[in-house]
Amino acid sequence: QEVNMAKRGVIIVAGGSGSRMQSALPKQFLMLGGMPVVARTINTFSEALPGAEIVVVLPKEHIALWENLRARFDVARHRIVAGGKERFHSVKSGLAALSEGVRTIAVHDAVRPLASKKLIIRLVLATEKHDAVIPVVAPADSYRSVEGDDSKIIDRSTLRMVQTPQLFRAEALRKAYEQEYSESFTDDASVVEAAGYKVALEEGERENFKITTPLDITLARAIITAEGEM
Ligand code: C5P
Repeated sequence: QEVNMAKRGVIIVAGGSGSRMQSALPKQFLMLGGMPVVARTINTFSEALPGAEIVVVLPKEHIALWENLRARFDVARHRIVAGGKERFHSVKSGLAALSEGVRTIAVHDAVRPLASKKLIIRLVLATEKHDAVIPVVAPADSYRSVEGDDSKIIDRSTLRMVQTPQLFRAEALRKAYEQEYSESFTDDASVVEAAGYKVALEEGERENFKITTPLDITLARAIITAEGEM
């Protein structure tokens, strides 16, 4: 499908310190199919949305490392900005670095390198009809909520796992990020919803998981290898 990709903004957040991954190198810089995870993520967006403005948010202490790395790989054009204390502040820094003219903005976790171009385009197209669109998948496991020694089953059919990229009309996202930070903000949809906008759900992709643990990077490498063999 051909889409006019002019005036699209992309914020790729990699501002966290990634303490859950037991490796010295933050997970966004681990190698995946011959390039760092974040490089693959940037290139996927650049290919899906040619001409889009891409901003990458990194912890201040990782910027020099990334500038060094990106010079050694074939990475699409992007701007680098320093992140903040919470994800909220990192996204806000990214927003400030995008031109006023962008009409839609995608916010994506750098550590979800396997989001497909198809998914990105489908979400962008959905912003023609909605202020906010997020990809979700139905959980495969059963879930329990625990309180002290007690636990009870949750009706799985009511649950969805929320992914990124989350797509927004630029005006809605900008207005939402003028709010004070709240601990209840776990993703951009929660920020935009708190500002009074409705969030629309789109089908996500199971392979679009977040690389959080050593198992995840192993899985991502296996998927890339399998795709290469097909
Ligand atoms: O693990 P968590 O859901 O908090 O992180 C989601 C994304 O937000 C990651 O890509 C992480 O790098 C980013 N993040 C950020 N700035 C922070 C904390 C997290 O950009 N201060």
